[in-house]
Amino acid sequence: MRTQPENRKNLIGQRFGRLVVTEEADHSGKHRQWKCLCDCGNTKIIRQGDLTSGKTKSCRCLQKELFSAREKTHGMSKTPEYQTWLSMKARCYYSGFIGHKDYSDIGIEVCEKWRNDFYAFICDMGKKPGKEYSLDRIDNSKNYSPDNCRWALSKVQNSNRRNAHIITHNGETMTLTQWAEKLGIPRGVLSARICRSKWSVEKSFSTP
Ligand SMILES: [Zn+2]
Repeated sequence: MRTQPENRKNLIGQRFGRLVVTEEADHSGKHRQWKCLCDCGNTKIIRQGDLTSGKTKSCRCLQKELFSAREKTHGMSKTPEYQTWLSMKARCYYSGFIGHKDYSDIGIEVCEKWRNDFYAFICDMGKKPGKEYSLDRIDNSKNYSPDNCRWALSKVQNSNRRNAHIITHNGETMTLTQWAEKLGIPRGVLSARICRSKWSVEKSFSTP
């Protein structure tokens, strides 16, 4: 067992290009590996050396976009369904995501079919019927899967929430609501700054 400083590094939470390290993966031979969540929603296991050297900066979506002008996922990445799919995965697998602990504690996962395939998800779920709808698990003790999920009206007190509004800042990705809680800024104020007044995230977050 090698124990150079390089091999004791904890990369969890660090960003490398589009990849954010979420957990350590099993070694491949003598290479230490990390499980990463890509901005595009895929998870991928990458060798530590490839991350720290800058060789690997995405799950491969970066390359795909460079070589294919019309990468389907790219075109869908701004849709509410894609944002829903991303937050669903983040809740289950991204330890930096607020609320993640509740899900990981009870072992909630995303079914294999949906986990790395947004198209499978959208084919099963269809389009979100409206802004006030969110992804709902019918049985809260069961996983995200086609037979346990539906689009449902959010609770009344959440009716103004845009649950899917995800913001990445300083390498941390959370919903607008979660940022508001973390920063101690009323959500309405934050939302008005970003959505209505078009302030930058930087300015919105740093203004008391
Ligand atoms: Zn990717």
